[in-house]
Amino acid sequence: MNDFLPFTRPTIDEHTIQGVAEVMRSGWLATGPNVSHFEQALSDYIGGQRHVLALTSGTAALELALDICGIGPGDEVLVPAMTFAATANVVMRVGAVPIFVDVDLHSRNILLDQAEEAITDRTRAIMPVHYSGLPVDREPLYELAEKHKLRVIEDAAHAIGSAWGEDKVGSLGDIACFSFHPNKNMTTIEGGALSVASEVEARQIENLRFHGIDRLDDGSIDVTAAGGKYNLSDVAARIGIDQLTSLDAFNNKRRMLAYRYYDQLGDSFPGILPTRGDAGHSWHMFTVLLPFDELGQTRQAFIKAMHERGIGVGMHYPALHEMTLYQTINRHPCPNASRIGRETITLPLFPGMEMADVDRVCATMMDVLP
Ligand SMILES: *Cc1c(COP(=O)(O)O)cnc(C)c1O
Repeated sequence: MNDFLPFTRPTIDEHTIQGVAEVMRSGWLATGPNVSHFEQALSDYIGGQRHVLALTSGTAALELALDICGIGPGDEVLVPAMTFAATANVVMRVGAVPIFVDVDLHSRNILLDQAEEAITDRTRAIMPVHYSGLPVDREPLYELAEKHKLRVIEDAAHAIGSAWGEDKVGSLGDIACFSFHPNKNMTTIEGGALSVASEVEARQIENLRFHGIDRLDDGSIDVTAAGGKYNLSDVAARIGIDQLTSLDAFNNKRRMLAYRYYDQLGDSFPGILPTRGDAGHSWHMFTVLLPFDELGQTRQAFIKAMHERGIGVGMHYPALHEMTLYQTINRHPCPNASRIGRETITLPLFPGMEMADVDRVCATMMDVLP
């Protein structure tokens, strides 16, 4: 079907395709000048005195962040129960234990008072997710971290371009990790980046992302850590350089489309709309909660009916603390995350959409709902 509307779609222009072709012809495909350029451009974009390192994925950024914080066996890390699997999986991969904390029903962001209650003498870090691009409240977050001596690893996979007032996510605070997966607000196909304040930790990331290799002044190399292989390619970086120049336009368009959803859905909407936020919300997703049980319709039936009418909707996310791996690890009740997991629907939202597409989604949804 030609006019099928997916829930997301990357925007890639001819200039970017040409740029990729140039890199392909240049003879330098892996990490090189485009990666350096991309890192500088990201650092300039985010602002603040930060070190920005390009990596192969958002997941790699989160994992390396835990690594440089020295988090491992015996440690606990607070994570929201409503997030993508990567946020908790990386904690497991370094040998630590993710402690799930419930989220707010409306903002879908981690509840900081419940996070504080979940702190033990093993807690080393908190990994808040700026859900759908809505920044977690910065002051209470960093006050909590300071009070309990926690590292803050911000999962900013949804939040490239998000801001607290004038301050972009990643420009302040401890460590922020971005993702450039094609579903995110800008893409490098696969890719990610980490923003960190400390020069020493930036050098550590540089070392760990490429085999733990240090280059010495005499031209020789040394291996000083069991590093991995997380360096971005120049081809990917070239895409990122272009995407970054369009990011504000992309995010503004996302915001306008989101506001159109509010206008269209208004008071008659039978479920819960997400927190509206302000201009610092980058609108990675527009997710609504629908009380399928009360409505007498299954979510599968709703998704199928929407699909048959040419509209793709997503489900972000199933509650992570209920997944097989995490059921036995989970320690605290997370009823909001469970409810969001059951009721969430992700409506189409991407910069290539038109306002009329939003209207069509809303009309179709009202038609499909009983
Ligand atoms: C996408 C995503 C990640 C992982 O990013 P990748 O680049 O796909 O590795 C981590 N956390 C959240 C919340 C995400 O949405």
